[in-house]
Amino acid sequence: MVLPMAYGIALDLGTSGFRTHLVDLSNKGKIISTAITMRHPLPGANIMDHLHFWIENGAEVGHKIILETVDKLIALHGVDCREIKRIAVCGNPAQLSMFEGIEIRDLAYAGESILKRFNITRPNRRGHTTTAGAIGLTVVGPETEVAIPPAIRHEVGADALAMIIKSKMLEKKETCMVTDYGTNAEMGLYHEGELYSGSAAAGPAMEGQHISHGMLAAPYAISDLNVESDGYWANFVLDERLGPRKASLINPSTGDLKRLDSIKARGITGTGVVAAVALGLETGLIKLPGIATKDKILHFQDGITFNEKDLHEAGKAMGAIRAGHKTLIEEVGISDEEIKTMYLAGASGTYVDPIKAQTCGLVPRVVEKTVQVGNTSLMMAYDLLVDPSVLDMMQSVADSIASKHIMFATSKIFEDIYINEVAYWLEGMPMEYYNKMLKISGLSPLPDIKRPKETMRIVDRDIPEVGSKGLKTLEHVGVFLIGSFEGCAGCKRCEMECPEQALKVEKIGKKEYKIRIATEYCLGTACKNCEQVCPNGVLKFSELKIVKREELNGKCA
Ligand code: SF4
Ligand code: SF4
Repeated sequence: MVLPMAYGIALDLGTSGFRTHLVDLSNKGKIISTAITMRHPLPGANIMDHLHFWIENGAEVGHKIILETVDKLIALHGVDCREIKRIAVCGNPAQLSMFEGIEIRDLAYAGESILKRFNITRPNRRGHTTTAGAIGLTVVGPETEVAIPPAIRHEVGADALAMIIKSKMLEKKETCMVTDYGTNAEMGLYHEGELYSGSAAAGPAMEGQHISHGMLAAPYAISDLNVESDGYWANFVLDERLGPRKASLINPSTGDLKRLDSIKARGITGTGVVAAVALGLETGLIKLPGIATKDKILHFQDGITFNEKDLHEAGKAMGAIRAGHKTLIEEVGISDEEIKTMYLAGASGTYVDPIKAQTCGLVPRVVEKTVQVGNTSLMMAYDLLVDPSVLDMMQSVADSIASKHIMFATSKIFEDIYINEVAYWLEGMPMEYYNKMLKISGLSPLPDIKRPKETMRIVDRDIPEVGSKGLKTLEHVGVFLIGSFEGCAGCKRCEMECPEQALKVEKIGKKEYKIRIATEYCLGTACKNCEQVCPNGVLKFSELKIVKREELNGKCA
């Protein structure tokens, strides 16, 4: 007798993209395949943009975009989706709430009085199960169970809990720090039984976005660089299974090639950017605020380059993370030297060289040990998928952690530090002066760099196991916002001025035009260029309410 298949989906809802495992639940939780998006489907580059879009264009619109994307990602695995019996997710509170379609405004506004004024009730963010039908997923059966993990508190989500559980940091009694280096860098400082957390809106540069040749960690991305002899740098490129492979040897000042490798790079990840900045600073090819090569560009293999604008984007992201770390240290009232271990999580935290990360300010300047723990959010979703009792375990860990969340957006300490970071990266302010400014603000200076005695890597890939059917990439999410505006003359100004080529104007009648925006490429709140340049003043971004998707290609269509 052939037993029916029972598949499951582990789903990590990240701020810069979604990642899934298709798991065979009838065969010891074997991972069959992995499917990822290259971008987040909502307009915008960070969590605040996503929240703004959700509030302005309406929860229904935002929720539909998320669900259409998840449906497509599940379909990409190419199995009969009726055999998917269970889905387990993980992510930060905003992403999980957007996926479930529940209240998120409590995460957008700081302060209880504002919540009262807008009559906003915080939703229950304890661990629970629901069904695909209740959420609105259509590609799987409506009865498919969906496990939603708990938040530690409203702003400190299941992704932070995943970092804590998977890194095993609570089992050690030492003072330590953990960071998931994403668009929204989630960070925690654990000291004497209490967790202090914060999230720095680092922006997309840490994920390789807003960088000329930047891309997420995916096959054929440059993920690291190393100085070799005669000023040549070795380029490390991710292979099909996301393993970094030593590839071509290039002179970064001139682009001269010493050794050409068969693997062809198509972009550079955030960790590649960290390597470029660290090596640039150490070799003198970067003299902040500029690049000290003849053409003011660093050259990597296959025409991938890094220019001064990229350097400033990366610097702002690195500055936000260093300012976040230092803010936590100051809030807890400890010295920099008391941090014993630094845990690095997420795709960037996996591939980054911790020593180069420390040079750029992403790892505290004094630390005894670094531990790279991988994509703990996807790993946690997997654990929750194959063992439903993990939900209770997560809840009891969440309940046991006394925590304090520091809102960097309203923290004077963060503001004082970040101003110096901007001056350091964008104006070339020397570190000596940076520290003087910290002292004036009543803060302790940054100590001299002391390299860790031990650097440990628990996984060698962001996603350690992609499954026998390999990694599938949803290159284009293919979800669109559609709208027509009375008075639109079809001049295409909005299309021409869209910096991301996300918008198209299509003629649909004699004098009627349709605006079509590919949501994943749109910068949303941070841009609105299309709205501003419309000569007739008719395009209203927030009035775009219709969500359409391209057809599904998998068996589930
Ligand atoms: S111009 Fe409009 S469609 Fe294009 S990225 Fe900006 S907001 Fe999005
Ligand atoms: S710029 Fe305004 S008038 Fe011109 S095509 Fe776009 S929406 Fe229509």
